[in-house]
Amino acid sequence: MTDRAAPASPPDWHARAAGLQVDGRAVIDGQRQDAADGATFDKHSPIDGRRLGAIARGQAADIDAAVRAARRAFDDGRWSRQAPAARKQVMQRFSAAVLAAADELALLETLDMGKPIAHALAVDIASTARTLAWYGEAIDKIYDEIAPTPRQALALITREPVGVVGAIVPWNYPLIMTAWKLGPALAAGNSVVLKPSEKSPLSALRLAEIALEAGLPPGVLNVVPGYGHEAGEALALHMDVDALGFTGSTRTGRRMLAYASQSNLKRVYNELGGKSAFLVFDDCRDLDRAAHTVADSVFFNQGESCNAPSRVLVQRGIADALAERITARAARWQPGDPLDPRTRMGAVVDAGQLRTVLGYIDAGQAQGARLLSGGRQARTETGGCYVEPTVFAGVHNRMTIAQEEIFGPVISIIPFDDEADAIAQANDSVYGLQAAVWSGGLDRAHRVARALKAGTVHVNQYDEDDITVPFGGVKQSGNGRDKSLHAFDKVTELKTTWIRIDD
Ligand code: NAD
Repeated sequence: MTDRAAPASPPDWHARAAGLQVDGRAVIDGQRQDAADGATFDKHSPIDGRRLGAIARGQAADIDAAVRAARRAFDDGRWSRQAPAARKQVMQRFSAAVLAAADELALLETLDMGKPIAHALAVDIASTARTLAWYGEAIDKIYDEIAPTPRQALALITREPVGVVGAIVPWNYPLIMTAWKLGPALAAGNSVVLKPSEKSPLSALRLAEIALEAGLPPGVLNVVPGYGHEAGEALALHMDVDALGFTGSTRTGRRMLAYASQSNLKRVYNELGGKSAFLVFDDCRDLDRAAHTVADSVFFNQGESCNAPSRVLVQRGIADALAERITARAARWQPGDPLDPRTRMGAVVDAGQLRTVLGYIDAGQAQGARLLSGGRQARTETGGCYVEPTVFAGVHNRMTIAQEEIFGPVISIIPFDDEADAIAQANDSVYGLQAAVWSGGLDRAHRVARALKAGTVHVNQYDEDDITVPFGGVKQSGNGRDKSLHAFDKVTELKTTWIRIDD
């Protein structure tokens, strides 16, 4: 027999939420700071409309102060020239500190953008910590190169940090998107100025404090909250930002390229929207699993995932059977109280997003798609923003709900006739983030995977994901690659140094 401590009782999330004190000030040069002009905006929770607190409304002056702090920190080498082993240690401590603060960070994430607390803990916090640890671990595993050169000379190819990295992130996975930008940028020795979404700034602000507590020197990570057209635009236009990592909508990504061309031609890497196609052929060996995978992948995070496989292309003969199974699975995703650990689907991010999603559902019905389940606002008595899990069948790929990113819990089922038709419809989209092929034929799966225009293709699954593999799209889904060692390419420059070695 071993002695075991009695299990800690689960947190009372409602009590914690009631006692939460939000600090909405920016983190610049290691200090909490109000906006230079003192302006703030109010942040409300989509769970029930409660006011969470006042957030600093960063403007050009605040961004400029943050960029100057980041530049000073970079130039004096307090981080950029620390020994790799020392930087690695700080990143590992940073990661451990995120796990130690898991409850607090998860609560901020849930209150801020409405996702279920259980998912915030199991997915968002865990993944954030792993990302930071993984990039920390990579720091002393990357070697520079020596090119094959003539006898009298040596050419060194070294990888250097770009300097100051700007990062602008969305609200759907606030911490994970932040970690995907911070991991490679900090590991490579850069300083960072991050602008979180105005819809979900809380966890990133706290994360910057946690980084300081873990030993990241002041000025290396600065977080300035504010609106896109104010703080975001100022960061993207800043003449002393060397690279800009953007994750968000295709519409805003387009602007990022314009800002770069209007300013210092900073390197821009865009991770944008998606409308991922999920192809199910009639030789699919497990229709139940295909249906469950679609529903679980779309309804997770309230449908607010860039890679949600919201366009289901199914071979005509099995379309009804698949639709029936997806609809049955959808019933398990009814929205509930995000602070209840049993809840699987929470609130969409705000009233504007709620209206957008309901508007798309109306458009689907108006254009003749068949509503199989859901379609309405839910939990109206709470004052929060909830949508039923919604499934449309009989959708045509040119309908609005099949072409535009809804970013809500809505699935469109579209029939196809044969392989060529499936590929043509799947590629008939401005987006190219991810896709899936479900087929029992290995040759077909490979053939179709090769023909699909997407950054990632899944075969007979959709769930695998790991920090070790790149994530990004083609076409109007972007030109970047987050995650994996490839992400270093965006935040480093290759330098060649020729050295004469003959006497
Ligand atoms: P968004 O484009 O509205 O905003 C993203 C960020 O850009 C926010 O911080 C916002 O404040 C800022 N911003 C907005 N306008 C700006 C401007 N004019 N100048 C500078 N910054 C500006 O996107 P969103 O609604 O926050 O996020 C949802 C989108 O993000 C979806 O399209 C989704 O697919 C995409 N997304 C993509 C990935 C990916 O890896 N490809 C991951 C997550 C989300």
